[in-house]
Amino acid sequence: MLSYQHIYHAGNLADVHKHSLLAWMLSYLTRKDKPLTYLETHAGRALYDLGAEEALKTGEAAAGIAQARGWFKADHPYSKVLDRVVAEDGPQAYPGSPLIASHLLRPTDTIHLAELHPREHSALELAMSPTGAKCHLRDGFETAFALCPPTPRRGMLLIDPSYEIKTDYDDIFRHIAKLHRAWNVGIIALWYPILTSGSHGPMLNALSGQFKDALRHEVRFPPARPGHGMVGSGMFVLNPPYGLADEARRLAARYAKLR
Ligand code: SAM
Repeated sequence: MLSYQHIYHAGNLADVHKHSLLAWMLSYLTRKDKPLTYLETHAGRALYDLGAEEALKTGEAAAGIAQARGWFKADHPYSKVLDRVVAEDGPQAYPGSPLIASHLLRPTDTIHLAELHPREHSALELAMSPTGAKCHLRDGFETAFALCPPTPRRGMLLIDPSYEIKTDYDDIFRHIAKLHRAWNVGIIALWYPILTSGSHGPMLNALSGQFKDALRHEVRFPPARPGHGMVGSGMFVLNPPYGLADEARRLAARYAKLR
């Protein structure tokens, strides 16, 4: 039974971290003419209304993108997507990762998105219908195993689980190792929360031990509410594109000022 709904958290400081690095990577990849594949295991609904009751209830977007919008120059790919989504869908619209990808990719590129929650999947299909993206109502890792290595072979996979099931942290290391064996040239990016409980620690130790050339990037921020367990955001990227570490460093300097 899935209960996580990203609308409560859309546009928070973790999304800003994940989405701005994602936008940078996709923009980098499209500098070459060659077509690419973009895959996502946990897509969400792609388009969020930050004026919705759920988003207002947590106030996470107000402490997130509303504060961070000025961190990004107008020509940053994340800024460009945010501007286009607001122009198309209204001032409270915020793009999830699938919409960020569809705005930055080209008609020659291929997008596969998995989302297991039926209601989120219906919203995803609606938001992505003009884009030609394939939206799978299926477990994200099963979908990725079935598609990897994808055609075209160039491209990236975003893994952004809701970490609702305790075993997620144990399973992810094995899943990533399997996906990397199947698609050794693919960029595989995992998002994870930094938790006061330290639950993410063993997974990260295993990943860092196995994938020495991966980029591990973490930012810290004040908890959304007093006592809230998430105090930061991490991205673990296999085959990181050239320049991603510099981009991540620039972003980290912004987060450092929040603390
Ligand atoms: N990637 C999205 C973004 O950045 O805009 C947010 C995704 S949200 C963190 C995680 C999503 O995964 C939720 O919409 C949830 O319904 C979905 N989900 C949970 N378990 C799943 C599974 N086993 N396979 C696919 N999707 C799943």
